[in-house]
Amino acid sequence: MSSDMTRAPSQRGRDGVDQDQFLAILSREDALKRFEAALFPRVALAEERPLTGAPGYPLAHDIVADIDVPPFDRSNVDGFAVRSADLASAGEATPVRLVLNDEVIACGTAPARPVLSGTATSIATGGPLPRGADAVVMVEHTQPAGARAIDIRRAASPGQFVSYAGSDIARGEAVLRAGTVIGSREIGMCAACGIANVSVVRRPRVAVISTGDELVQPGETLRPAAIYDTNGAIVSAAIGENGGEAVFLGAIADDEEQLEAAMRSALESSDMLVLSGGTSKGAGDVSHRIIARLGKPGIIAHGVALKPGKPLCLAVCDGKPVVILPGFPTSAMFTFHDMIVPVLRRMAGLPPRSDAKVVAKVPVRIASELGRTEFVMVSLVEGAEGLIAYPSGKGSGAITSFAQADGFLKIDALADQMPAGVQAEVTLFTPHVRVPDLVIVGSHCTGLDLITAPLARAGLVVRSIAVGSLGGLAAAKRGECDFAPIHLFDEKSETYNTPFLGDGLELVPGWRRMQGIVFRAGDARFEGLSAEAAVRAALADPACIMVNRNQGAGTRILIDRLLGNARPDGYWNQPRSHNAVAAAVAQARADWGMTIAPVARAAGLGFIPLAEEHYDFALVTARRDRPAVQAFLEALKSDEGRAALGQAGFRPA
Ligand code: AMP
Ligand code: MG
Repeated sequence: MSSDMTRAPSQRGRDGVDQDQFLAILSREDALKRFEAALFPRVALAEERPLTGAPGYPLAHDIVADIDVPPFDRSNVDGFAVRSADLASAGEATPVRLVLNDEVIACGTAPARPVLSGTATSIATGGPLPRGADAVVMVEHTQPAGARAIDIRRAASPGQFVSYAGSDIARGEAVLRAGTVIGSREIGMCAACGIANVSVVRRPRVAVISTGDELVQPGETLRPAAIYDTNGAIVSAAIGENGGEAVFLGAIADDEEQLEAAMRSALESSDMLVLSGGTSKGAGDVSHRIIARLGKPGIIAHGVALKPGKPLCLAVCDGKPVVILPGFPTSAMFTFHDMIVPVLRRMAGLPPRSDAKVVAKVPVRIASELGRTEFVMVSLVEGAEGLIAYPSGKGSGAITSFAQADGFLKIDALADQMPAGVQAEVTLFTPHVRVPDLVIVGSHCTGLDLITAPLARAGLVVRSIAVGSLGGLAAAKRGECDFAPIHLFDEKSETYNTPFLGDGLELVPGWRRMQGIVFRAGDARFEGLSAEAAVRAALADPACIMVNRNQGAGTRILIDRLLGNARPDGYWNQPRSHNAVAAAVAQARADWGMTIAPVARAAGLGFIPLAEEHYDFALVTARRDRPAVQAFLEALKSDEGRAALGQAGFRPA
């Protein structure tokens, strides 16, 4: 942010507004406090809704009953309406005989005749008590005495089996308070009072705009250098989950004029505007400049001490909140949930979100930046002594780190780390923890999905966390997973995987993956050659660029053997996965590299097979007897599993 300091004076000059607030990065708490102070209190957005359309909405006003419920004194049983005084002397040996009035009071029938002393009137449950009667005797407690009389052998207290008018709800009573979120029980109260329409807080209309020249909507074809617009969909959904009505207006290019027009019209027709992207203060990032022209007071906070999410921009334009979320989807989601949801829910009249929390042990040290409140997404795993919170290793640019996490933990702005072994509070994304039945941590392979498919069908929750072979092995040694899929080559023994196992781990053979050279189909430098000849041809052409693999990868060892001492152009480009190698060659950023056959095939590349890689599983022996582990071992051995692997281009071990 130091660059902003130097830019601030010129910005002030250009926009003609006081931009001093740009200079300071606010703490999360200060930013939220200022944002809320600029927005509340405010008049609630109210609308009338019929009862059927009211569930989920908070009441805008108190609801006061304008009738009694029940509206009349009502019998609670099937029996006879009587005068209790007539039965004062009734007993087992001294029955009292009452003459029946010529009337039967059914539900919904208004009584016509009074109950005079010495008489009774037949009455059904829910029937209105006739004049003169003050109690009801159950039919079971009477005996017929001829056609027109009954005998009663027990006394009745006044009010027996009677619900008095207004005993449930009294006329003039406030039956529901403003702010109550309407559910079936509240609907029942209103219906009993005869209320057909209620005044509720309407859903705030929230316009959503994604910004960026690179964005393409899901469903459309991805052009080179473009990415799919993720924020548009997640922000819209999260608005819906928190009481708002999202109006998604698509992705707008980084063009100041176009964006300003879109923002103005969006703000005109909505109660709130949420943008994502373009908030870093780079040359192409214009949205925060536009906000300054949209209305008073303008920007409240630009730069919040949050991680992820520092570039968050909060503004209020003529009373309406305008927010620019950071572009990276995970940052966008975190800042949205942490800073925008409280405001949105308040505008929607909803109570603050009540997030479920659990305590879990953090198995590894997590470094944290001093001065920023840091949120770390975690996957929960069941350990020997309770829950383990496994931090997701991917950065804020990774959508899976958000989607596959169970929740997050918070590292205080004043802490520079969370030490390993700490019991931390984890805020869950869903109300209940569903700890996975099977946890696989290590190198990911598409073949894995084929083997876990039957487990998922059987209702088992499988969590696979991709951290590479070495990361998986470390997790397995700490007992934090069931299996670690690994493909580690030991140069000394020239064998895969077994030399890397330690105490408490055993090897479960997985499958073999053919490694080989990939090139774009039709490239005459490689087509039809052996691997050795292809590499010779590549080295002979100075214009040929390779893509390597990271140090430590088994595939890298193969490449180095083929290259000998040669260090061709591209050697230092060392991505960490088979897919990244295929993408580099397919997109012509490189001409050749080494990957596995199924990945080459999926990318439509030419392939020269060289040597098989062993993709096996380090099983934590202590977890062998768990049902999901057994199910996985079964699936691995099954004909169905082996056939599926074969079809996908793998060779089951
Ligand atoms: P920006 O803040 O616009 O510089 O964006 C930061 C990063 O987030 C860039 O890599 C963008 O491509 C990415 N990004 C921005 N908006 C979106 C979006 N709607 N969906 C997915 N990624 C995005
Ligand atoms: Mg952008």
